[in-house]
Amino acid sequence: MSKLRKIILPESEIPRQWYNIQADMPTPLLPPLHPATKQPVGPADLAPLFPMDLIMQEVSKERWVDIPEEVLDIYKKWRPTPMFRAYDFEKMLDAPVKIYYKYEGTSPSGSHKPNTAVPQAYYNKKAGIKRLTTETGAGQWGSALSYACQHFGLELEVYMVKISYLQKPYRKIMMNTWGAEVIASPSDRTEAGRKILAADPNSNGSLGIAISEAVERAVMREDTNYSLGSVLNHVLMHQTIVGLEAVKQMEMAGDFPDVVIAPFGGGSNFAGLALPFLHQKLVNGKKVKLLASEPASCPKLTKGEFRYDFGDTVGMTPLMPMFTLGHNFMPPALHAGGLRYHGGSPIISQLMRDDLVHAEAIQQLECFKAGVMFAKAEAILPAPEATHAIASVIRQAEEAKQEGKERVILFNLCGHGHFDLQAYEDYFAGKLQDHYFTDEQLYANLKELEDIAIPA
Ligand SMILES: *Cc1c(COP(=O)(O)O)cnc(C)c1O
Repeated sequence: MSKLRKIILPESEIPRQWYNIQADMPTPLLPPLHPATKQPVGPADLAPLFPMDLIMQEVSKERWVDIPEEVLDIYKKWRPTPMFRAYDFEKMLDAPVKIYYKYEGTSPSGSHKPNTAVPQAYYNKKAGIKRLTTETGAGQWGSALSYACQHFGLELEVYMVKISYLQKPYRKIMMNTWGAEVIASPSDRTEAGRKILAADPNSNGSLGIAISEAVERAVMREDTNYSLGSVLNHVLMHQTIVGLEAVKQMEMAGDFPDVVIAPFGGGSNFAGLALPFLHQKLVNGKKVKLLASEPASCPKLTKGEFRYDFGDTVGMTPLMPMFTLGHNFMPPALHAGGLRYHGGSPIISQLMRDDLVHAEAIQQLECFKAGVMFAKAEAILPAPEATHAIASVIRQAEEAKQEGKERVILFNLCGHGHFDLQAYEDYFAGKLQDHYFTDEQLYANLKELEDIAIPA
């Protein structure tokens, strides 16, 4: 029998509902707190930033949530996405593993981000909003939301982390093509940006700073809302379309993964692939390990503390219960820009505490080495973020070899690296280095945070 490389789900089989893990979490989420009063926030507190449909999804405990027809129709431009069996990579690793990967790089903007950009733009349009603001790190999120806003006739203002703005000029052109305005952050357009620039005129920016700027602009105008590309519950839920497709595709392949791996920035692509498999574990008793792969230079899950912290640098967002390095954390100028966020999503953080998901941190040189190996074997040039998952796959393969037992691995190839070639050039030129995150750094950051008790 000839090898089946692609596992293709027909368009007619596209999932019509998202999966909401909040229905099945053994420990319910702690509530977000108001940044000033420190009291739990209610839906009304979030109304200046988000449309009510998204706020209700944020707190919903309904297990299955219908995907609106208008959203499904756009999803079908690139979904269902393919799953591949990585035969050549398996051969290269020479270990007793079967490796499958879900490829989200086939979306118009090149990653999983449009899976939530499209519904977010849709619900804002439906609520009568005219304009959105957002931040972007590597440019993947800004690109995805630019297209989604273009489709639904919304204006968009994107605050792009300055280091990425300089490293990835073509991401900016892509956003401009879809009609968005892109501003390097920190900027002098906002109070938050001016404050950061006054303290450090050469600031590289960070996701936390860009979020502060975008939130400030959104609260200023009645017709403007804010949109976030990761971390929040509704964002993770939108991304579950990835894993719901993957569960069906694994079934088509006649396999079930022993381990599911994805890179971890704020948690959305990891959650998107992993949570439908966690559902299989919690509800159907399947055995599967869920492994998040994060950069050693921004190791929120493996080195951070679980506590209440702000989502942004300046402290304008609600306080969220999450593993964090501190909202004042300034990550090094790492090429995996999409992973440079100080905190992990509340849902994944709580599941970590409950020992239902696991994490490991990997240095950037190991990641690029893995990415280049993968490109040589499977032909797809991965986004620097995605190379973290590939490095974890290689570690799993080595473990399986030592154990002498077959392991079935599924990972999320969450984006291609076609706008990240500068990173590869720097890697080939020997200009990249590993970054070490010290405990002193962590304690200094955390000491500045307000101590808000976490119920036992
Ligand atoms: C944004 C992004 C990430 C990190 O964000 P998550 O919310 O953790 O998914 C990872 N990979 C790519 C390609 C991205 O664009």
